Amino acid sequence: MPRKVGPYTVTLLETGEFALDGGAMFGVVPKTLWERTNPPDSSNRIDMALRIMLIQGPGKNILVDTGIGDKWDEKYKAIYRISHARYSLEKSLKEAGLKFTDITDVIMTHLHFDHCGGCTYQEKGQLKLMFPQATHFVQKEQWEWANRPLEKDRASFLKENFEPLSHAKLKFLEGESEIYPGIHVLISHGHTRSQQVVKVTDGKQTVFYCADLIPTSSHIPVPYIMGYDNFPTIIMEEKRKILEQAVKENWILCFEHDPKVSACTVCKDPEKGRFALKEKFSF
Ligand SMILES: [Zn+2]
Repeated sequence: MPRKVGPYTVTLLETGEFALDGGAMFGVVPKTLWERTNPPDSSNRIDMALRIMLIQGPGKNILVDTGIGDKWDEKYKAIYRISHARYSLEKSLKEAGLKFTDITDVIMTHLHFDHCGGCTYQEKGQLKLMFPQATHFVQKEQWEWANRPLEKDRASFLKENFEPLSHAKLKFLEGESEIYPGIHVLISHGHTRSQQVVKVTDGKQTVFYCADLIPTSSHIPVPYIMGYDNFPTIIMEEKRKILEQAVKENWILCFEHDPKVSACTVCKDPEKGRFALKEKFSF
């Protein structure tokens, strides 16, 4: 069931499935701990969702992220266990009663391949825009980073996903912003420079799309960060700040990559100070 927040209807859409190395997903957390909640396959990979957000309001169909896309050759499909057998962007949009041309806006949290792969597709050797009518929002600093990445996250930026956007309606944002009334982007630098995470609020109720700030519900405890994070101590402080506010204001956090839990509220153990899942939601 979609969720109403002020004038908006918020829905989470599944766009596919893939898998990443469990060790890389949990950084310094020992396997004996993470494998309880995220059992690995024979190649040590764990299941990963590709869940995006649809925000519908007056005259608007806004997507937050677009999934991993379909421009993959067999070798990489096998490496990342990419599958669209159960879910795809096209199927999920159709179920929501939408065509690609109905999308008015795309907010890209960042330009790693599993977040913006669905922005383009290939036809007869040509790269085309998936959402030709849409305004695409990206942080200017993230765009610059993606074009000159560190060696550490270079493999996560594939130019075919974002280069064609320079011919799209592309809007660079610089820092925090309220894109439309009640739809805010907040900035996090710990995973990659200027990742934008999305907060939809009507003042009473808040739904928050965590992207790679908190990729799964298993990453709620502050020290559970990814080996992929460029700036580990920064992401820990950013997470702590967001989680404190999420507990205080009872936000619903939405997870892009959790294979089982799509959204939840969080609580904090008053003695140990540790954050944990409180109540699950799906919408
Ligand atoms: Zn990422």
